[in-house]
Amino acid sequence: MENELVTKLKEIVGEDWVLTDMALMESYLTDVTALPVLPEPASDVVVVKPADAGEISSILKFANEHRIPVFPRGGGTGCVGGAVPTVPGIVLSLERLDRIVEVDKENLMVVAEAGATLEKMLKEVEAADLLFPPHPGDEGAQIGGLVVCNAGGTRAVKFGVIRQYVKGLEVVLPTGEIVTMGGKLLKNNTGLDLMQLMIDSEGILGIVTKVIFRLYPRFAGSATLIVSFDDRHAAIKAVPKILQTGVIPLALEYVERDVIQISADHLGMRWPAQKGMAHLIVIVTGSNEDDVYAQSADVLKVCEGLGAVDILMADTREEQADILKIRSELYPVLKPQVADVLDMAVPPAEIANFLDVLDEISRKYRTRIITYGHAGDGNIHPHLPLELYERGVLSDVKHDIYAEAVRMGGAITAEHGVGKIRTKELPLCLDDKSLELMQGIRKLFDPNGILNPGAALP
Ligand SMILES: Cc1cc2nc3c(=O)[nH]c(=O)nc-3n(C[C@H](O)[C@H](O)[C@H](O)COP(=O)(O)OP(=O)(O)OC[C@H]3O[C@@H](n4cnc5c(N)ncnc54)[C@H](O)[C@@H]3O)c2cc1C
Repeated sequence: MENELVTKLKEIVGEDWVLTDMALMESYLTDVTALPVLPEPASDVVVVKPADAGEISSILKFANEHRIPVFPRGGGTGCVGGAVPTVPGIVLSLERLDRIVEVDKENLMVVAEAGATLEKMLKEVEAADLLFPPHPGDEGAQIGGLVVCNAGGTRAVKFGVIRQYVKGLEVVLPTGEIVTMGGKLLKNNTGLDLMQLMIDSEGILGIVTKVIFRLYPRFAGSATLIVSFDDRHAAIKAVPKILQTGVIPLALEYVERDVIQISADHLGMRWPAQKGMAHLIVIVTGSNEDDVYAQSADVLKVCEGLGAVDILMADTREEQADILKIRSELYPVLKPQVADVLDMAVPPAEIANFLDVLDEISRKYRTRIITYGHAGDGNIHPHLPLELYERGVLSDVKHDIYAEAVRMGGAITAEHGVGKIRTKELPLCLDDKSLELMQGIRKLFDPNGILNPGAALP
């Protein structure tokens, strides 16, 4: 990397916060994307760790003036290569902006710097006896990363995705200006809503430096049910029926027993349900114990009517945490055998049909596509095995799956985003005019195209 750039960065942030040694930079060049599809990182990069929005502004002004690409980096838990620097430039790590500025109990809001981890924010929110409802799987993700990826997770079925919680942002634009959007407001119709554009922008419109999230009172009780079925159709059929009872579970997940067992074995834990091959994990929350039991009873009645072969209820904190831990570790455990993890969204009622289509595609390519996910919100993660990559048919399989999902009114990504590995497929579900408008918006924010090139849009 050119000396002038390194000198300038050291001048802005101080000697200690600029890395040029490859051995120290390695962990900044990747994320959790499956290796066969992980973009090749550039070797000629410099990592910079600014302390605040002012320093980020100075870095971006310099980079913009000299047309140097800048790659924002959060916790590196992204699954689509979004934070990987694919051309020489600057990796801008948010890790030093890690303060929880305030938990505002009066307004039910939390103000956090973008580099704070979800884990850190949850601890402070819970210490104030409040709830931040969304829970994307990896608590090492940073607040800014969660916002620009509009992360979802298991709780979206009841509480929605991150977008529903963002009330205000501080953003440094690629041209260096610092702007604030929104505030501690529940209603705000002032001007065009730039904040909504920033959410899900995957680091191409600006660098998020501070976030205001809405909070809620904690729920008093919860229970986790594992409902076992002998076949997948019955399990998936139960999903809309549960929702039609009026019970909106916190989570409504679909897993297969032999798959979840892999995670349990890896962790040296016991998956409590041993009957049936198709399992629904249903987490019910309520205002008190009676409420939780009444909702659980409604869920059980529906599932029994649809042929559930076993129903297990965990109501202690420990038992519930164990079930969630085994579910949360599934991806890291399966990753070594996986060539790509897709993130399909289909209309919730189409899930069973979509799984049938995946079976047909599996048969066509003589393989097994492990599939699990957030059944309650129509978001399924087909795991394409490594052997498809080795046989040279990975792209064909992916294309078939995408085409079928789009035909059903679905989308190629529900929560992981486009990153740098799904840009080519965007025209499958976005028309030319929409893509042109999106490119125009990007140009307006970033006239010289320095921010996260190669991400989010073709
Ligand atoms: C085990 C596991 C489970 C997961 N489960 C879920 C899940 O259930 N639901 C879900 O939605 N996701 C899930 N994820 C994906 C991941 O946690 C999210 O995509 C998360 O939002 C990424 O945040 P991050 O800070 O790690 O971002 P990174 O991976 O560092 O970056 C992601 C993108 O955001 C940009 N970026 C990061 N910070 C900023 C910033 N401050 N300003 C501007 N751009 C920025 C980067 O340039 C990149 O394009 C899971 C990941 C793992 C490893």
